[in-house]
Amino acid sequence: MSRPTDWIPSLWLDTFDELLYDDNELDYGDEWTLNFNYRQTDTVTHDERKRGWKVYSHCAYGNFQCATCRKTWPSARVVVLFRYRLRKGRGTVLMRPFGQTCRRCQEDEFDLPGFTKKEVEHALLRLFSKIKKNCYHEEEEDHSSTCSTKVRTKPHEKTLCEACVLGICCTDDE
Ligand SMILES: [Zn+2]
Ligand SMILES: [Zn+2]
Repeated sequence: MSRPTDWIPSLWLDTFDELLYDDNELDYGDEWTLNFNYRQTDTVTHDERKRGWKVYSHCAYGNFQCATCRKTWPSARVVVLFRYRLRKGRGTVLMRPFGQTCRRCQEDEFDLPGFTKKEVEHALLRLFSKIKKNCYHEEEEDHSSTCSTKVRTKPHEKTLCEACVLGICCTDDE
């Protein structure tokens, strides 16, 4: 059992670069960078909208480990929120992963999710397809399923989910 439960920003950064520079996703001559913002929400103010910011909320499959009791659990509803814009040849993506808290310990702190490489790729490809549509006016590619990995997980517990607490979790019908 080696499902990754640690939040590893470099996995996202590396995969982002691989998709852009090895696979030539977003090959439009602009430079795109990925950064993290652990405080952002899905709210885009009028001003931000004017400056070109858009959001994409992705529902991913991830794994968690409690920092206190070491219990691990999977979840098919891990929200990964991206904020992005293209301006003057520079593309910026800000990402925030949403945590969950351990059922047993019920602490105030949320543990951040771990993801497989495949899941990271899937999330970023979905993001790129939004970027292609919204920044480059291309037709959106059809990826019908939102959650890539079909796995049975326990019912989603809203009180233990940071995105639910903030009212921005993925909905059941997505
Ligand atoms: Zn715990
Ligand atoms: Zn939730």
